[in-house]
Amino acid sequence: SICFVNGTYQPLAEARISPLDRGFLFGDGGYEVIPVYSRRPFRLAQHLERLAHTLEAIRLPNPHAPSEWSGIINEIVARNPWEDQSVYLQVSRGCGNGRNHAFPVPTRPTVFLMSDELVTPPAAQLARGVAAVSAADFRWLRCDLKSTALLANCLLRQVAIDSGCVETVLFRDGFLTEGAASNIVIVKDGMMLAPPKSHLMLPGITYDVVLELAARHGLPYQVREILEDEVRTADEVWMTSSTKEVLAITTLDGLAVGSGTPGPVARQMYDWYQDFKNTVMRS
Ligand code: PLP
Repeated sequence: SICFVNGTYQPLAEARISPLDRGFLFGDGGYEVIPVYSRRPFRLAQHLERLAHTLEAIRLPNPHAPSEWSGIINEIVARNPWEDQSVYLQVSRGCGNGRNHAFPVPTRPTVFLMSDELVTPPAAQLARGVAAVSAADFRWLRCDLKSTALLANCLLRQVAIDSGCVETVLFRDGFLTEGAASNIVIVKDGMMLAPPKSHLMLPGITYDVVLELAARHGLPYQVREILEDEVRTADEVWMTSSTKEVLAITTLDGLAVGSGTPGPVARQMYDWYQDFKNTVMRS
């Protein structure tokens, strides 16, 4: 596949970045994953806004204006073979003079983009839902930033993988935060519940779409703090992300969620999401 490193498009296999890059040494950078359907980036403005938020919070000047980002992303999409792609974009604080925690002066950020085929959940997962485990959320207190420092997320996701599950649902101080790489939404008695955005979770682009679709179609919902016990007794639990879209979690820690199959609200939301994607792509 073709990638982009600091202004140059090249085969991914030939791309080279210095071992002194702070993205490598410290996980000092921000990133985005942007889904592309029929070669059109989905919710691009929102992804670029979130990137700007991350970069501002980590005091890394945004190297590109939105129109420039859009140009690079469209070029990456055009140079790769798939109709549906997932574009990965990262900005790190570049190289310093050796290994030094202090920010390099001047800072020359490293801009890296690559793309892969977008693989959304297979039919069997959509039909049956997926298994999840739970774990204590031991991440830092800036989970609202899409930082490349993902060690905690990797460790937490691996807990799921090690028990043959797909995602780890995270609880902090008795409340639901999110998944290791997704947001979590639940349904109880026909009411969709979503945790409020805060420094404890990533403000998901898909999460926003799901709330917009609920409002548009008149599905009752509340955005409020969700107790761990409410998740464990929910009728439905879903994970949402740019690549998983809306995916029902049908067992949590080995116990059935609700009926143990994807619930009616999950199926409805999945359909609304697909319709919305398709209309946006055609417009
Ligand atoms: N939360 C975390 C920790 C994530 O890594 C992700 C990304 O997939 C999400 C939530 C979902 O965000 P989005 O819907 O923007 O993909």
